[in-house]
Amino acid sequence: MELRRITDCVFYTMFNKESDRPVLGYINGQNRSLMVDSGNSINHVEWFNEAIRNEGLRTPEFIAITHWHWDHTFGMYAVNGTTIAHQKTNVKLAEIAKWEWTDSKMKERLEAGVEIEFADTCIRTEYPTLSEIRVVTSDISFEGYMEIDLGGITAELHHIPSPHSDDSVCIFIPQERVLFIGDAVGVDYYNNCYLDKDKLRSLITAIEGFDFDTCVVGHAEPISKQSIVNIMNSLMER
Ligand SMILES: [Zn+2]
Repeated sequence: MELRRITDCVFYTMFNKESDRPVLGYINGQNRSLMVDSGNSINHVEWFNEAIRNEGLRTPEFIAITHWHWDHTFGMYAVNGTTIAHQKTNVKLAEIAKWEWTDSKMKERLEAGVEIEFADTCIRTEYPTLSEIRVVTSDISFEGYMEIDLGGITAELHHIPSPHSDDSVCIFIPQERVLFIGDAVGVDYYNNCYLDKDKLRSLITAIEGFDFDTCVVGHAEPISKQSIVNIMNSLMER
């Protein structure tokens, strides 16, 4: 089974290291459902939708984005529902939407330091035909905080401080005690893997403030609140 269950209403699909596909979330409300992150391509979206259908669940009406990085956003054009992202995420996506996806243009961006090697390599793995890449901004954007009533359960979208990217959003499902944080606990790959400890300190305070049992992260197995707090504290001491 591709779709994994955390609670009665919260599911996720596993990350895949080959082309850096992140974990995708699915929150099943009585009236609407929400997908967390849009995956890195149309193939990733279709694979996710099939996993949903196999469990008899409906295609998500809403898709919330955790941050602008390609692996979390390049599937946005291919989803059926309404996409939601932070304003800062859309600023970055609007910029990337202008990029040309040819071998030479990608090499130019690498040389200029606009793109990083790891993303370049994984994009080439996910897209044997580079011209298939489509980058779009979200249908709805927000700043700070927004809430979606899914019917019986609520999804809270919070902009949180993060050393990984300034547009980081976490999705909190209070009734299910689950928190999706994307890659928020991580270094900034687009700034020489810099770890901003002031931002990390603020992130620790923010995450500790949520009342949850399970934390869903972008590229690993879900973990407990205590474990994610321990990881952040050990990063602080690095
Ligand atoms: Zn990321």
